[in-house]
Amino acid sequence: MTEQNFDVVIIGGGPGGYVAAIRASQLGLKTACVEKRKTLGGTCLNIGCIPSKALLEISHKFHDAKHGFEKLGIQISEPKIDIKKLLQNKNEIVSGLTQGIAGLFKKNKVSYIEGAGKFLDKNTIEVTKSDGSKEKISAKNFIIATGSEVTKLPGVDIDEKVIVSSTGALDLEKVPQKMIIIGAGVIGLELGSVWGRFGAEIEVIEFLDKITPSMDAEISRNFQRILEKQCFKFRLSTKVVAVKNEKNGAKVEIESVADDKKENSKKETLSADVVLVAIGRKPNTENLGLENVGIKTNARGFIENHHLRTSVENIFVIGDVTTGPMLAHKAEDEGVAAAEIIAGQAGHVNYDTIPNVIYTYPEIASVGKTEEELKAAGINYKVGKFSMMANSRARATFDSEGFVKILSDAKTDRILGAHIIGREAGNTIHEVVVAMEFGGSAEDIARTCHSHPTYNEAVKEAALAVDKRQIHS
Ligand SMILES: Cc1cc2nc3c(=O)[nH]c(=O)nc-3n(C[C@H](O)[C@H](O)[C@H](O)COP(=O)(O)OP(=O)(O)OC[C@H]3O[C@@H](n4cnc5c(N)ncnc54)[C@H](O)[C@@H]3O)c2cc1C
Repeated sequence: MTEQNFDVVIIGGGPGGYVAAIRASQLGLKTACVEKRKTLGGTCLNIGCIPSKALLEISHKFHDAKHGFEKLGIQISEPKIDIKKLLQNKNEIVSGLTQGIAGLFKKNKVSYIEGAGKFLDKNTIEVTKSDGSKEKISAKNFIIATGSEVTKLPGVDIDEKVIVSSTGALDLEKVPQKMIIIGAGVIGLELGSVWGRFGAEIEVIEFLDKITPSMDAEISRNFQRILEKQCFKFRLSTKVVAVKNEKNGAKVEIESVADDKKENSKKETLSADVVLVAIGRKPNTENLGLENVGIKTNARGFIENHHLRTSVENIFVIGDVTTGPMLAHKAEDEGVAAAEIIAGQAGHVNYDTIPNVIYTYPEIASVGKTEEELKAAGINYKVGKFSMMANSRARATFDSEGFVKILSDAKTDRILGAHIIGREAGNTIHEVVVAMEFGGSAEDIARTCHSHPTYNEAVKEAALAVDKRQIHS
């Protein structure tokens, strides 16, 4: 067993871990990143954000060509799917980006150690390589960035062919005729959009009485209506009782949540070629040797943090494995902050301004508080809304579905939240994010000159509407 010494070692090379490693090295710390997967980039680059967005883009183009072009006055012959080529394109994007991270490590002098890390004590980990050999690594500081994995449904075996997780749903070898999705969260709705646009019938089973439950309720209701006009059918307040894999398809037994406790509850059985289990993700803390350093997980399995520090002074934790939204950019920002704290700087993440985007068509984007959260907190607020129907860019690009909603403090006008349904909402939201970061008011946005014609003009109009002085509606 050889032994190496570092100022900081990061366990996990996802968006949290690799960004922390680069920042730590920039700050002059001798840094290593340990990753057990064969490639860097974590869930996000390998089996998450990036491959899903590649498939969303390809499927959107296919759907446009099949259903959208003719009404614009463009005639083409019937488009066909070459699924092998399509998956190859997606895989090439992924491998280009993951290799890019390895290149960034070289450029920034980060030592990349392949293998699974496990704490032996608070200054030492053991790394087990894929060939079984072991190496001891010591460091003054560690950052746990081990991310998350798919939450399984008890009693349901995922074979990634018929019963799939998001990972299998990114690699289906043919378009299913019917796909049942268990869970109406972001991942299920994005991947349902992909396969629905390619022609699959999509049925979503959701235990709760609404889709994307943490979202502003008005946005969630409108989003559901929009998806229902596409390929989605929803069964809300419905519980999955059993899923049976029949090799060339699956049977899903369901019952109404209201019937759950009744003795003679009415059960129904649905059939599908593919069932996607998308009920959430759980933190990766197994085989990390947490018991050797005395770090405990909370009731939901997360490692809690105080300014990104665990209960052990020199061990930090960031990203999906700790509390907060499970988002790549939240993990990245925490990575930067943890590295800066280790280097003796302030290191800070503003959790009030972390945007959240769903990359369906149209996109859904939000930042800050929902109306429901403001009501629950007893905060008086004003609402400004503006429909994409009245936004000239949206009209010119045939994307007039959706609206912008801005919530600001009734007394100070400080922006408390913003919620957008619209094409490119994921980009449009960022002017509000920046305004909120600077403590800006709705009037600040309303008085800022916006290019014409842009989707962002709808944000300006919604900001004007907070004081009922919008121009175009
Ligand atoms: C289908 C899908 C789509 C998504 N889309 C988006 C999106 O559009 N936008 C967004 O913001 N988020 C998205 N996410 C969520 C996003 O991927 C995660 O929030 C993000 O990857 C978390 O980063 P992380 O660095 O904390 O963990 P991860 O990316 O999970 O990386 C952790 C890494 O640690 C490694 N590891 C674990 N244990 C060990 C060990 N003991 N030793 C060494 N290495 C270890 C793992 O192999 C993994 O590579 C999506 C997720 C999925 C599944």
